[in-house]
Amino acid sequence: MNIEHHPSEALLLDYASGALREGWSVAIAAHLALCPECRQVVRDFEAIGAAFLEELKPTPLSGDRLPDLISVPLAEVDRLDDVPAPRASISSPVLPEPLRRYVGGDLDQVPWRRLGLGAYQCLISTGEDETSVRLLRIPAGKPVPSHTHGGLELTLVLHGVFTDTTGQYARGDLQEASETLEHQPYAAAGEDCICLAVTDAPLRFSSIAARVVQPLIGI
Ligand SMILES: [Zn+2]
Repeated sequence: MNIEHHPSEALLLDYASGALREGWSVAIAAHLALCPECRQVVRDFEAIGAAFLEELKPTPLSGDRLPDLISVPLAEVDRLDDVPAPRASISSPVLPEPLRRYVGGDLDQVPWRRLGLGAYQCLISTGEDETSVRLLRIPAGKPVPSHTHGGLELTLVLHGVFTDTTGQYARGDLQEASETLEHQPYAAAGEDCICLAVTDAPLRFSSIAARVVQPLIGI
């Protein structure tokens, strides 16, 4: 798998230090399950954090204790598993392990709700309500209505491909969209695009029609 779009270091650092809200953490944990490169970054952050905390202890640090210091955070990250990428068809498992925990299984357990225009969503509840976490299924070749964001939007591709003005996103790629980005993601032709999307404010749709249905679909 060739992941080209990764979370910012700021997000990975907040994740490593436990400062992220649960909604954002779900997206980062799911990306980490697919991305060895970012797992290494988080490992490094955690090792630095652990060493820093140890420095604060009144007892002096001796050289032979160093392996103990980094073994705890490493164990946390290494529980994440790699999931093989489906290419030809939608076959299990599509959802990385941290997501399967929330859904209670893989795609076949997802209670999809129709959004209209062939798109589906499934809201995922977490322990907080500051963020909205949902799975989206966009039909092949179709767009999501053009929109901006009231806050941050993290989109992690789990199957298929979407494109917008910022590039092309395939399985494992994570898009970090701020308030300044207006975009209209398109699912690539050939297969539906399934994404995990996390937001902390409602999207702002450009078209009146999309704004009219927005309260009904809860995006
Ligand atoms: Zn990554």
